[in-house]
Amino acid sequence: PQWSQPDPLSGRFEALGGAFFTYLQPTPLPSPHWIATSASTAEWMQLSPQWLASDEALQVLAGNAVAQGSRPLASVYSGHQFGVWAGQLGDGRAILLGETEAGFEVQLKGAGRTPYSRMGDGRAVLRSSIREFLCSEAMAALGIPTTRALALIGSPQPIARETMESAAVVTRVAESFVRFGHFEHFAARDMQAELKALADLVIDRHYPECRSATTLAGNAYANFLQAVSERTARLLAQWQAVGFCHGVMNTDNMSVLGLTIDYGPFQFLDAFDPGHICNHSDNQGRYAFNRQPQVAYWNLYCLGQALLPLIGDEELTIAALESYKSVFPAAYATQMLRKLGLPEDEAGTPAAEGRFALLVNPLLQLLADNQVDYTIFFTRLTEAVQQAAASGAALDFEPLRDIILDRAGFDAWSLMYSEHLAQTDKAQATDLMQKSNPRFVLRNHLGETVIRAAQGGDFAPVQQMLAVLQSPYAPHPDHADWAGFPPDWASSIEISCSS
Ligand code: AMP
Ligand code: MG
Ligand code: MG
Repeated sequence: PQWSQPDPLSGRFEALGGAFFTYLQPTPLPSPHWIATSASTAEWMQLSPQWLASDEALQVLAGNAVAQGSRPLASVYSGHQFGVWAGQLGDGRAILLGETEAGFEVQLKGAGRTPYSRMGDGRAVLRSSIREFLCSEAMAALGIPTTRALALIGSPQPIARETMESAAVVTRVAESFVRFGHFEHFAARDMQAELKALADLVIDRHYPECRSATTLAGNAYANFLQAVSERTARLLAQWQAVGFCHGVMNTDNMSVLGLTIDYGPFQFLDAFDPGHICNHSDNQGRYAFNRQPQVAYWNLYCLGQALLPLIGDEELTIAALESYKSVFPAAYATQMLRKLGLPEDEAGTPAAEGRFALLVNPLLQLLADNQVDYTIFFTRLTEAVQQAAASGAALDFEPLRDIILDRAGFDAWSLMYSEHLAQTDKAQATDLMQKSNPRFVLRNHLGETVIRAAQGGDFAPVQQMLAVLQSPYAPHPDHADWAGFPPDWASSIEISCSS
């Protein structure tokens, strides 16, 4: 790619100066080989597919060669981990190659030790790299804001975890990798000039509307905090609606652009379990599925504390965070009603009389009580509505009744649902549902299946899964089994932070 040239006026991350990062070269990766690339990411970032197919790209993205104009660096940040101030952290194994002329930052994850590696080896294993690569692209295809993955490169280099594994490097791409923790870092050290420079950069590049906003006393930093709160609220609504559990929602894993970032022990729910904990190291369940929206607010509060010196007013800071409390539930309700093919409630409907209270809540309770597969329930519901729309016949709920033990409970719910659906156009409902209910999500056991193949040297399944996850609403008859129920062994997969 054509890297943008140094220009202190361009506001790029590098131009922030030495307090924000350390220049360093990636550690060379022995005998690198391609595992997969994402043509979709290349297109998105306006990168030539020819370059991505070249041997130069393999060397650059493995960290073995540095492209002209690229000055690799690792950034410093801090953060709250599991609710506790962790002090200085930083890119311990991610190296920023720079920013392309089109404005995309390119990072290599697993490219070797940095000054922020602490006890880590700076590497990432094949297993976790496959998960990050696939999930980044799956989320993008689901329309959920995320860092993207451009390439996945493997190497025979042995890496010690619980067992010996092999190394891999993921090329991540985003318009910015700035985290809440970057702000916390400079606030905690009382480095006001740096704090302001960082906020000004992010606002000017990504939230320019905050400069001219008249809300919140016209305070640009308060408006910035509010905008981040709202993006985060909408992100969390999408996570909850699709059944995504992040697993490590530390403030250093929160993007100021409201992107999903840092794919570790994440999981898409199989059976609907609101209290599900996907991170094997999360003993307290701090990051359990149903706690995510609250944790995001807690993290935003940390960001607010960090921005307080710039906002200069405690009340404005609190006010800026306030909209999370209305944006999240509204966005979540919209998402869930779309999954049911139903329109939003008319403005002014009291919450207790709204469709969310009447239909969504009892459904989620039913799914939880009966441990119903979350994705399959909504896929079957979509098919039922689609068939009824096509045939003009009544809804056939049998395929759904088949997967719910409490038939009477389900019958009561489906009766109510049919009444609501009768008030809307079924073709329109079908359209909404087909775009809101993926058939394919990266369930843990699917990840495991392609990981095992890759560990045995067969990368075709990774590439096939990428293709399926990049159009998750389509039927993909050749891979129908990937849309099926998880096997019994799926629930015994344990995924921790060690990756
Ligand atoms: P995480 O919990 O994945 O967000 O990681 C927390 C911190 O540990 C971040 O600063 C990472 O950069 C760092 N880290 C995680 N794994 C490694 C590793 N293998 N080598 C060096 N640093 C790491
Ligand atoms: Mg992290
Ligand atoms: Mg991580």
